[in-house]
Amino acid sequence: MDETGVFDRVTESGGARATLAAAARAARAMARAGDDPAARAAADPNGAMTHSWLFTGPPGSGRSVAAKAFAQALLCTDPDVVGCGRCRGCLTAEANTHGDLMNVTTEGAVIQVKVVRSEVIPWAHRRPTTAEWRVVIIEDADRLNDESANALLKAVEEPPERTVFLLCAPTTDPSDFSVTLRSRCRHVYVPTPTREHVVAALRMSNPELTVEQAEWAGTIANGHIGRAKGLATDEGTREWRGRALDLVEAVFDPSRAYLRTRELASKAEAESKRRNAPREEKELEQLTNSLGLGAKGKGAQAATRGSAGVIKELEENQKRRRKRTEFELVDMALMDMVGLLRDALLVSSGIGADGSGGGGSGGGTGGGAGPTPINPDRRRTASELARRVPPEGLVACIDAVMGARKAMARNVRSAVALDGMMGAMQVACRVGQR
Ligand SMILES: [Zn+2]
Repeated sequence: MDETGVFDRVTESGGARATLAAAARAARAMARAGDDPAARAAADPNGAMTHSWLFTGPPGSGRSVAAKAFAQALLCTDPDVVGCGRCRGCLTAEANTHGDLMNVTTEGAVIQVKVVRSEVIPWAHRRPTTAEWRVVIIEDADRLNDESANALLKAVEEPPERTVFLLCAPTTDPSDFSVTLRSRCRHVYVPTPTREHVVAALRMSNPELTVEQAEWAGTIANGHIGRAKGLATDEGTREWRGRALDLVEAVFDPSRAYLRTRELASKAEAESKRRNAPREEKELEQLTNSLGLGAKGKGAQAATRGSAGVIKELEENQKRRRKRTEFELVDMALMDMVGLLRDALLVSSGIGADGSGGGGSGGGTGGGAGPTPINPDRRRTASELARRVPPEGLVACIDAVMGARKAMARNVRSAVALDGMMGAMQVACRVGQR
């Protein structure tokens, strides 16, 4: 198979690519077999295709990339290559504008049952309009609560003949994903991609990048494809990373350490506000228009009375979304900090060391075996950390950062979580203690 197409974006290790490509070919054979159930079944004798799939993998592994590639292949109209990546079906699916593709995403903590009941299920029960299949992608299926998972379960158990459900979640752990729903889906595990795969994926989606840019971002992103894209293409993402790495060094500057943590927390809040503002304005405008609040007619007065609750609901949703963006920004910073501390540990153990800082650097990532530094551009900082802090101190620092992530997951305010982290890191690094 030398064909190129949408599955090139799916990581090769773990077998996901082959499984999905075979399923997409079977799906096409089934569609060509027509509506007779026996003929359809005969078209897929090995049962490569099924109606419900669950994609799992660590954040950034590309589980939703794999789901999207599969959706494209199901909607592809190229006569020869299933999932060509060039036809109208593939392109509109990629842009989320295909009429037979529904992409369910949520900004809130849960996917509400009313969304499943009134939007997803009725849509899934209609026949495809132009394609052979209808495809529903639920990107954060771990955000289905019991009620909405149950509502979905019925459709997954007795799927409409021509509809496919693609669910994505971090793991199949019961805390992430309904056990019953899991048992009705075929499971595809998408492992963390290698550095080479991230670089390749990046170059494919952003052909304007130079090899150096793609390799730099692919290394730092540490197996996270979306992150690599941000680092390669967005100045704000690069700046945010710099801020996070500076926070590790701030440990040694007790007079300003807490200033820095507060700064990061307030920047995250401001940045979240900035990113969400255009969308929030548009949503409010749409809502007020649909409520007739902009009108001066006699109906407007009556509409105002009933509309307060609806507007309040929107505002609460927006607030939740802003909180989530803020959380994600801080979490990303914390993971960057862990990466730098890990690099320092590598230096301590002699693996990531490039000697005394002389001219003889290894020139790239070495022979491929063994761990390599995540932040090659911060080698000096890593060496400095390793010189000043013993390995057990570095491990304690990593624990402190992970502790802050956990605290935030429990809804502790980011400023408080970061201050706690900084305190624990200073103890670990014996700053201010003689
Ligand atoms: Zn195509």
